[in-house]
Amino acid sequence: MQNKKHARLIIVSNRLPAVVKKGIEDEYKVNHASGGLVTAMTPVLKRDGGIWIGWAGNYKEEGLDVEKLLREQEKDLNYKYKPVDISLNEYELYYKGFSNEVLWPLFHNVSVYCKFSEKYYKAYQKVNREFANKIMQELADEDFIWIHDYHLINTGKELRQKGVKNKIAFFLHIPFPPLETFNRMPWRLKIIKALLSYDLIGFQTEIDKKNFLEVVESLVKQYKIKHEELNITNIITKQRESRVGVFPISIDYDEFFNQAKSEEVSKMTKEIKEGYPEQKIILGVDRLDYSKGIPNRLKVYRRLLDRNPKLRKKVKLIQVIVPSREDIVKYASLKKEIEELVGEINGKFSQLGWIPIQYIYHSLSRVELLSYYRASDIALVTPLKDGMNLIAKEYCVANFDKNGVLILSEFAGAKHQFKSDALLVNPFDEDAVVNSIKRALLMQTKEKYERMENLQNIVKKFDIYWWVDMFLKTAKIIGKET
Ligand code: UDP
Repeated sequence: MQNKKHARLIIVSNRLPAVVKKGIEDEYKVNHASGGLVTAMTPVLKRDGGIWIGWAGNYKEEGLDVEKLLREQEKDLNYKYKPVDISLNEYELYYKGFSNEVLWPLFHNVSVYCKFSEKYYKAYQKVNREFANKIMQELADEDFIWIHDYHLINTGKELRQKGVKNKIAFFLHIPFPPLETFNRMPWRLKIIKALLSYDLIGFQTEIDKKNFLEVVESLVKQYKIKHEELNITNIITKQRESRVGVFPISIDYDEFFNQAKSEEVSKMTKEIKEGYPEQKIILGVDRLDYSKGIPNRLKVYRRLLDRNPKLRKKVKLIQVIVPSREDIVKYASLKKEIEELVGEINGKFSQLGWIPIQYIYHSLSRVELLSYYRASDIALVTPLKDGMNLIAKEYCVANFDKNGVLILSEFAGAKHQFKSDALLVNPFDEDAVVNSIKRALLMQTKEKYERMENLQNIVKKFDIYWWVDMFLKTAKIIGKET
């Protein structure tokens, strides 16, 4: 451990925002990564500086000097990236295995997809220990460590075992499951104890926090619970006092708003609209994931066209899918299912001059994404379960003409903030979603405007800076107590 006095922010996540990739001529390049966490944390580090520790996507076997490659990226940044090395085998067992075939499905309440394997858990422990070792190399006395997400639950415990006394906080970006679901996991007690090694544990919604407290109550023998202001709950065990709070993650409102207004985006928005004359655009943007409910949504659209022939040629579904985890069997089969449905619907309903679904299977640039948001009359955000869902927030901010309607799943974390200003739907109820689409298509301009204005105000007030400040403020209160 280093001995610096200045308190720095150390962010730790599975992936670094920089990804090392082999180019066509076998040379290694650093690309910028996308995703919810990167979108969320980058403005904060730009503002405050610090260190980001994570995996850059390369394997130990490649024998790369990743630090050197990353230094190029950091030239213009006021924060540093520090890479953790992972071997191909560790990637298979820790990342694909325990993280994405145990914790992800379990926490998204689809435990039937879980593959509970002791080998996976052992690798998870080992890689979490390696993350802890990397943190130790960088750590100074006053640093505040903020660990992110389900891949790294054990890292705090590993640090405590090495004697680290620094304040360590953890934020879970994905949902926390109900007791019955959580209890199916063979390592349930170990995971819950690991979570209790943090000084602060943050969740996206009250439901996640409530589920967590219920699990603690059922699994941990001696503890005391103390409720405080700001909806913070203290769990006091023999080892420590952990604070548990709700911090709904958000986006950089100003950045999205200003970029959405730019000339480039305005021009592309116009082009998109001109591409679909006389058609109302319904937009879906999702990472390829079974939690996003994409097949359910396609079936809803099929039903809409089936039951409402007059809507044919009058609507267009643009479904953007960002490729993700395709090397996991469930994801590959999901892609196949989606593509079969898209093919079936386009085959069945296409007419001269009209194809019902425009299917995009690659990630978009920010300008393209914002242009699709702006050009759309309806955003169909219907995950079966989602920690928050930033697409919903981005859509509202980009829709500054306030003529769009957000249809939002009851099972997205965002619904707790948006409430009835979005059209809330149960994504498992096809008829209800069909009816919401019809309602949105007929909604008067004034109602759309008022709803969208309220939604935008929520994101504006509770933006990413609010989220970070709330989290760090809560963490600092802990600091004062000790
Ligand atoms: N996104 C992106 N490229 C795209 C489409 C989306 O970078 O082509 C980003 C989008 O801006 C959003 C994130 O991916 O910030 C998705 O976050 P969300 O919380 O909705 O879902 P997650 O993928 O984290 O489960």
